[in-house]
Amino acid sequence: MTIDTLARGITRVPIPVPLPVHTTNCYVLDSGDGVFIVDAGMDTPEAREAWEYAIGTLHLREAHVRGIFVTHFHPDHLGLAAWLSGRLGAPVRMMGGEREAARQYLRPWTQVDWDRFRDFYMTHGLTRVQAADWWDLEQAFRQGLTMPLHVEPIQPDHEEYQGRLSLVFLEQGGHTEHQGLVWLPKQRILFTGDQVLARITPNVSLWPNSCGNPLQEYLESLDRLRGLDVALALPAHETPIDNLHARVDALFEHHRQRGEKVLELLKSGGQTGLELTCQLFDRPLHDYQLRFALGETLAHVEYLRQWGAIRVTEGMPQRIWRR
Ligand SMILES: [Zn+2]
Repeated sequence: MTIDTLARGITRVPIPVPLPVHTTNCYVLDSGDGVFIVDAGMDTPEAREAWEYAIGTLHLREAHVRGIFVTHFHPDHLGLAAWLSGRLGAPVRMMGGEREAARQYLRPWTQVDWDRFRDFYMTHGLTRVQAADWWDLEQAFRQGLTMPLHVEPIQPDHEEYQGRLSLVFLEQGGHTEHQGLVWLPKQRILFTGDQVLARITPNVSLWPNSCGNPLQEYLESLDRLRGLDVALALPAHETPIDNLHARVDALFEHHRQRGEKVLELLKSGGQTGLELTCQLFDRPLHDYQLRFALGETLAHVEYLRQWGAIRVTEGMPQRIWRR
C-alpha cells in the first residue's frame, strides 16, 4: 500500500475495497493543530489492516484526530467509520441530511419496505422472482454496515477553522441526496467523494425510495461546483483531477448524450424500464450491474419526463413513450 502526500499536509490513504474500483481513497489532513480524516472505507479485514498500517506510519494514535468526516452513507465510505472512531477516539461527522439517510437505510426493514421495493421493480418490468432476488442483493449490500452510535451533523456551507486550514462543507445531491464535499479555499483543494471521479461516471440512480429527480439534482449540484476556485480535486476513487471544470463539462456532455440515446431508442415505441435498460447498456450485465444500470436509466427517464419529452402509461409494468 502506498500512502502518498499530495499537497502540504494532505495525505492519501488507499483502503482496499472488494468492488470494481479496488480502493477507496481516504485522506488525512494535517492542520498543524491536529488531523482530520475524510472517509473511512469499507469494513473488511484487509481494510482494517490497511488502516492499522496507516495509523502506525502516520502516528495517528499520537495525533489529535479532530474528526472523521464521512462523505456519504455507502458502505465503501461509512463502513469503517464506527471502528475507526473507536480506534482513534475521534468523532464521526456527516452532513445532517446524509446522517438521516444513513439511519433510514440501516433501520430494520419491514413488510412495507418490501412491498414498495417489489412494486417499484415490477412496475419497471421485473418479475416477482427477480424482484425477490434483488431484495436479497440489497440486504447483502446493507450487511456489515454499522451506523456509528454518535454522528455529529454538519450544516451545508458550514465553514470552520482547524489550525492553518479553513474547511468548507458543501452538500451535493444526485449520487446520494446529501453527499458532503470538503473544500479548502486557501489551498484550492476540493475533496469530491463520489460526486466527481476522474474516469468513471458517478452513479446517479432512481431507487425504490428515491424522491424527486436525482439527475436534475446531480446536474444542478455539479453546476454549482463551476463557481469554486479549485486547482486540485481529490475524489474517493481513482486518481486526482487537476482540471475539475473540464471534468464537470465532460459529465454534463455524457448525460446529454445519454438522454439523446434514450429518446432515440424510444422512437420504435413504448418500452418498459428494463427493456430500455437492456438496449441502452448493450452488453451482458449480471444482476448487481443490471440494478445500477436500471437505476441510471430510470433517472434519465424521470429527468426527461419532467422536461416533458417522455410520458409513461401507468400499469404493471409501466410503459415509457417518447412524446
Ligand atoms: Zn464510493
